[in-house]
Order: sequence, then structure tokens, then C-alpha cells
Amino acid sequence: MTSGQADRALRARAAKAIPGGMYGHMATTLAPPSASQFYARAEGCRLWDVDGREYVDLLSAFGPNLLGYGEPRVLAAARAQMEVCDTASGPSALMVELAETMVARIADAEWAMFCKNGSDATGMAVMIARACTGRRVILTARNSYHGAQPWCTPRPVGVLPEERAHIAHFDYNDLAGLEAAVEAAGEDLAAILLTPHRHETFEDQLDVDAAFARKVRELADRAGALVMLDEVRTGFRLAAGGAWEGLGVAPDLTCWGKVLGNGQPISAVTGAEKVRAAAASVFVTGSFWFSAAPMAAALEVMAQVAEGGYLDRLQTAARRLREGLAEQAARHDFGFVQSGPAAMPLFRFEEDADLRRIYRFCDVAIENGALLSPYHNMFANAAMTPADVDRVLEATEAAFRDLRARNADLPPVPAPVAARLAAMGR
Ligand code: PMP
Repeated sequence: MTSGQADRALRARAAKAIPGGMYGHMATTLAPPSASQFYARAEGCRLWDVDGREYVDLLSAFGPNLLGYGEPRVLAAARAQMEVCDTASGPSALMVELAETMVARIADAEWAMFCKNGSDATGMAVMIARACTGRRVILTARNSYHGAQPWCTPRPVGVLPEERAHIAHFDYNDLAGLEAAVEAAGEDLAAILLTPHRHETFEDQLDVDAAFARKVRELADRAGALVMLDEVRTGFRLAAGGAWEGLGVAPDLTCWGKVLGNGQPISAVTGAEKVRAAAASVFVTGSFWFSAAPMAAALEVMAQVAEGGYLDRLQTAARRLREGLAEQAARHDFGFVQSGPAAMPLFRFEEDADLRRIYRFCDVAIENGALLSPYHNMFANAAMTPADVDRVLEATEAAFRDLRARNADLPPVPAPVAARLAAMGR
């Protein structure tokens, strides 16, 4: 199975005009063979590729699609602002309104600063933490993704070791390991940076242990260091406030991105009072960081987050999908693992060390109109109706049937996937 003719033609042109044909997380290098590289139209939870094939899109733009592609209220707010003033010689009043809104809605936020991408936010948070503490070491969970800047990119080609000095690691949920890492950092520990739950590619997702989250806070306090929560992927998809609010663990700095403008480019760092002066002291900026249209979009997103209905819709759809898949897997007699929150699902098969089964499963699902990923957590969105979920389940039913019919006769995974697994020692 391969992508369509128009997609292949664009890939051939891209191979000449764009280094490597495509780069970053949108390159289809690790995707199943039938995944398209190029798309033409998006609406609600649906996506159409350049060959006109329609999908229910479980990738949700790798996160930004929270309320639905082109959600009318968000789109209208962004459009209206774009007509009057967007990127200008100074910010609009919306910047103040958005900062006030985030401070009002997020328990641990006393202030907010805005930027464009998740990497901008995590990089800015690291600078602020170092400015605040006068220390160097940032502890992160091993293999966790915090963006593509030199200090954190998972593929450090073109990066100097010096740029990654003072970044040290612990294993997620490993209390003893965290204690040892904090101890090793000693007086130089600036901050512990982590995601609300573990959501790395090619690994089962892992909920945070409440005891671990509390330990993070306790160790940071004892060391005079900060806690930074990276909510770029989880933000507002799991809760209408911060993901750890329910645990009663308050971060000092939180990074937001992806969903904040429901697709309009905007990200943010929010923080506690004690970090305010440090946040004011760093020089951080960008030509587009102050643009007003994405802020208008973000205000509309925050309004819908406050209304709350979106979370019910999203979670209802996510649960229906999880239950439907579990029923199908049991009926077809497959050990099928669904890890992470239902709203951010990741699937794998038991007894599938080389991932042939999950790759084939997603490949057939894509051919049948459900855009799934075999290696990256997916994202439910609030535009998904029960009928959309049923459409996905039709595609996965076809995929389970295909696997049963083929039994062990499965195509190998794409070569870059095999190489990635080998590098992970699997
Ligand atoms: N942090 C996390 C947890 C992420 O998932 C991502 C993006 N996938 C980033 C940071 C970086 O965000 P961006 O790609 O917008 O720079």
C-alpha cells in the first residue's frame, strides 16, 4: 500500500526543493507506508490528503486540533483580528487580556508570557529557571521530548556537547533515581523539568505516580530549585486547568503550546510569583510573538475551555474509541494494549517486538480512512462525534480482520523504524 499519485508527485518535487524531502516530526519517515505526506483540507476531525482521500484524523495535527479544525468561533476571532491588526509595531490589548485570562484560569499561574512554538516555551522556561536560581543544571526524564532546540533535540546532529552540558536525567516515576540525580546536581540544580505523564514515542505511556509528583516538588524545594511542567502536549486536553492540579502539586513554571490557539501559532509560559522577577529579567522575543490574531484565537479557546463542554465531547469520543477497540481486539483474539489517557491514546500489540503487527494495523486503518499512528500518541478532539468514532472503528475492524487473515505473514516495518528500534536496544 502506498500513498496516492498526487502525494507521490509532491514528494518527488519536495525531494529536490526541500532538504531530505521533509524534516522534523511531520516527515512520514516513521509512518506506515500508506500515510500521505501532503494534505489539502481539514475540517472538524476530518482531513483530506492531496489525492482527495478522506480521513478521521486521530493525529489532530500532533496536538493543536483541540476543538476541531477550523472551529468557527476560533476562526472568526482570528479572522476578525487579522483584518484590523495582527503583526504590528507593538502588541494589541489582547495580549494583556490573554495573560489575565490564563492567570485567572490556571491555578498556578500568576503571570504569562507568549511565544510561538512549544520549543520557544520550554527554552524560555529553562532560561528563566537559570536566571531565577543562578544555577545551571536542568533535570529531565530520560528520552523525554521538550522540543528541537540544541539543548533538548533528540537527534543532536549539528549540536555541540557544550550546548547540552548541565542537562541531566532521571527515569520517569523512579523515586530513587530522581533522588540520586538531584543529589548529583547538588548546589547547581536549577530545575526539574517533566511532562504531566510520560508520553514518549515507541514506548507505552505511563501515568505519573502521585507520590513521584509530590517527591519532585519536595526535592526541588529542599534543593532551592524550581519545578517546570511541560504541558505542551497535554495542555487543556486532559483537564480544563493544569494537569497536576488534581494532584495538588504546583509547578513554578508551566509550558503551553499546541492547543492554545487551536492551530493558530501561539504558545506560552506561565509562572509563580516567586519566578516573576527572573521572567522579567531575561531577554526573550520574536518577530511574531506579539501578533494579535493568534491571541484572539487563544482567547476564544480559553473561553471554550471555561465553558467546559469541549472536554465532555472529547472524552466521550475518546472513551467510545477505547471501548470499541478493546471489544474488537478481544473478539479477534489479540492482546492489544492501549496506554495513556483515553484522550491521548497509544496502541500496541502484545507479542509484537518488531512492531510489524501495529504497523500493519495502522497501515490498513489509514487505507480505510482512519489516520492513526503506530509510534506517537494520538489526540482525541472535541469535534469527534460518536459517528466519527464509529467510522474509525470500521477502519480498525478491517485492520483487525486483515491481521487475522494474514496471521504471521506481515510486511517488515519501514527501515528507519527498524533502525530506531535497534538504537533503542529492542
Ligand atoms: N514539549 C512537548 C512535550 C512536546 O510534545 C513538544 C512537541 N511535540 C514540544 C515541547 C515542542 O513543541 P513545538 O513542536 O511546538 O516546538
